[in-house]
Amino acid sequence: MSTAERSVAAAMGAALDVERVRRDFPALHQEVRGRPLVYLDNAATAHKPQVVLETIQRYYAMDYSNVHRGVHWLSERATEAYEAAREKVRAFINAPDRREIVFVRGTTEAINLVAASYGGSVLKPGDEVLITEMEHHSNIVPWQLVCERTGAVLRVAPIDDDGNLVLEAFERLCGERTRIVAVTHLSNALGTLNPVRRLVEIAHAHGARVVVDGAQAAPRLPVDVQALGCDFYAFSGHKLYGPTGIGVLWARRELLEAMPPYQGGGEMIRQVTFEGSTWAPPPARFEAGTPHIVGAIGLGAAIDYLQGIGLEAIARHEHALLEYATEALAEVPGLRIVGNARERAGLVSFVFDDIHPHDVGTILDHEGVAVRAGHHCAMPVMQRYCVPATARASFALYNTREEIDALVAGLHKVRSMFGR
Ligand code: PMP
Repeated sequence: MSTAERSVAAAMGAALDVERVRRDFPALHQEVRGRPLVYLDNAATAHKPQVVLETIQRYYAMDYSNVHRGVHWLSERATEAYEAAREKVRAFINAPDRREIVFVRGTTEAINLVAASYGGSVLKPGDEVLITEMEHHSNIVPWQLVCERTGAVLRVAPIDDDGNLVLEAFERLCGERTRIVAVTHLSNALGTLNPVRRLVEIAHAHGARVVVDGAQAAPRLPVDVQALGCDFYAFSGHKLYGPTGIGVLWARRELLEAMPPYQGGGEMIRQVTFEGSTWAPPPARFEAGTPHIVGAIGLGAAIDYLQGIGLEAIARHEHALLEYATEALAEVPGLRIVGNARERAGLVSFVFDDIHPHDVGTILDHEGVAVRAGHHCAMPVMQRYCVPATARASFALYNTREEIDALVAGLHKVRSMFGR
């Protein structure tokens, strides 16, 4: 199917042709410990389609040069491709303006940038930053750092036993002192999908700005930053079938324009003298030094690929896998799902009360099944549910029901090895 045909199929609500999709991903066609690889660790990072690999290869081989600074032909070509990638990202999240797209290393750097630059300049002693109990460390620690620096106070909205954000508590905690609300769109530890639009309304009613951690949502759902109404949105290229070391911060233009630089160096200045320097307008102000040129171009190729299939089709496919997995896992004796929120997507976390998740992960690995076992960089979630860790299966557009069957068969094996 050509890209155009794929778009038409997606627009018509056609099911994703998973066998065709799988052919685009060379990494999926290998054996692990003598078994076909079943890759269910997509929330940690996703594999790359051939078109992304070829784009990276081609740019390093033939079109490679530094961007922005050169007057020569190759540099012009590299600059054009880099800026074209920025435009692809803009369209992907329906941002109003290309200049609102800042290339960063990933979600972690994007949130650190907002916390240090925006948070560092607006927060005063006694101001509050409101996060939730289900955040990834990347959306906790940068806020702790800036609170320490400014005297602001970190507040945490609780989650209930099923992993839903407790909306009434969030509303109570969001008040006149709240300057920043930072929430995950989709929890990487629980699979909870947060009502971002509603949270933005509550926050904006109190004059607070909203930062959304989109690391898990951007690869799985259509994201429209204007419809969400948020002020900042962050995501990573490597979870979106693109390269590592590249990610995106979107921010409203007026906010970016008022923000001080995060890092100093080449490209981010207007003028430098020993007496002082002035700053380039955004996004250059926030892209000090030689950027990850080929990373951005590779991310652009990944976005083209995903849009060829359609984010709606991907969301439907993953939702069907999630429902299938949830039902099948319920049949495994002694297995308990951690995270049964009303709105979920993309992944499922689970535990056996008498088997450590690391043992679960290791045994599954011997069956060729890759899952993640650990705290998923969300230690407070583990504390909330009194578990040291969980095992997590997370899905991508290329996963199949047969792969979930392999996971479930592996889990039955785990169960029988530990008795019962
Ligand atoms: N937030 C969430 C919800 C995540 O799942 C992750 C990655 N596990 C991050 C932030 C951090 O992303 P990165 O490591 O790509 O910066």
